[in-house]
Amino acid sequence: MSSFKIGRIFGVDIGVHWSWIFIFAIVTWSFATGVLASVYPQWSSAARWGGGAVIAFIFFISILLHEVSHSVVSNRNGLPVRNITLFVFGGVSNLTREPDTPGLEFWIAIVGPLTSLALGALFAVGWAVSRPFNEELAGISAYLALINVSLAVFNMLPGFPLDGGRVFRSIVWKRNHDRLRATHTASVLGQWIAYGIMGIGILYTFFGGIFAGVWFLIIGFFLRNSSVASYEQLLIESTLSQICVRDMMRTHIHPVGPEMTLEELVHERFLRDDARAFAVVAAGELAGLVTLSDVRKVERDDWSRTSVYRAMTPVARLHTVTPDENLAQVLQLMAKNDVNQLPVLRGRELLGLVTRGDIMRYVHVREDLGEQAARELVHPDGHGGDDDDGLARRSAADLAAPPPGRGGFLRHILPR
Ligand SMILES: [Zn+2]
Repeated sequence: MSSFKIGRIFGVDIGVHWSWIFIFAIVTWSFATGVLASVYPQWSSAARWGGGAVIAFIFFISILLHEVSHSVVSNRNGLPVRNITLFVFGGVSNLTREPDTPGLEFWIAIVGPLTSLALGALFAVGWAVSRPFNEELAGISAYLALINVSLAVFNMLPGFPLDGGRVFRSIVWKRNHDRLRATHTASVLGQWIAYGIMGIGILYTFFGGIFAGVWFLIIGFFLRNSSVASYEQLLIESTLSQICVRDMMRTHIHPVGPEMTLEELVHERFLRDDARAFAVVAAGELAGLVTLSDVRKVERDDWSRTSVYRAMTPVARLHTVTPDENLAQVLQLMAKNDVNQLPVLRGRELLGLVTRGDIMRYVHVREDLGEQAARELVHPDGHGGDDDDGLARRSAADLAAPPPGRGGFLRHILPR
């Protein structure tokens, strides 16, 4: 995502996606020209635009605090959060992996809406306290209270992967002890919730404000896609976690010798083979790995004078896997280190190579073979189970409650 970093809170990088600027503008504009203008017509235009900007800014802080609360609970429980990104629909906390227990998932998910509720209560107190003295301050506080409560309510909808959907999944998971099945249930409910949101969007488009309507439609669409994608991702990962490296690694790897020149390597190997990396073996042991990008780092004119040994990544700097590791762990390692292949070693003996392309091919072949054949491929001896840890990357998205349009929904709720 093209986002820029704005700081670090509790050791978590905070990023803002450029699309947030759009939301800031929309919220400021819709409050300044819509809600504040009609509820407080006596305010000057400067006060309305200023108020709109203050509301948009604190809205931003509110979403940030919501995300930070997820991170704090997650970090405290040994599940580090990579970063938080704020984007057009709200925020995303990128967890390094999924929670291991339903209990932990429950708390990580529910703390966000609870934080938003607490913020809502705080602004409600601010409204009550400032009302007799300062009408502008009271008005802004009232809307912020309402925004935070809407955020809490919206994110508690039981549509996976919203917070409420995660809470729902954790409850199903706790009952049936099967995360994958629980995710399937939560994902199906998530899709129905998404269709419901789209339905509300259509109603709004015709009978309310077109702006809020379109917003609901987009959010419903987004939620439906993330709901389907989250389940598919978990399905692939849980399938991959049941396949060992030894079952699919490339064993015909034709290693190269360290003294070969890059000229020879390119002409005799890379151009004749579909491999994008070659193991370099000296005296029966792995010495390193040479890839196309290693070759590219050397000037073309120097290829005939440079040995593979000089260009390769030496074994000491390589990440390696054992034949017993599962493919989910392998993908995680590849993602973490941004590599496309890993040598498979037993001790110092090179057994084979596992590449990202081979894993993808494996998944596609299984898909083409169909469900039943695929299941037999995974469970030839009935092992496996609900162990689906090794997740490469997982994100919890939070959706922002729609901004009030001119005919917006806040107007009907807020006391004048
Ligand atoms: Zn949340």
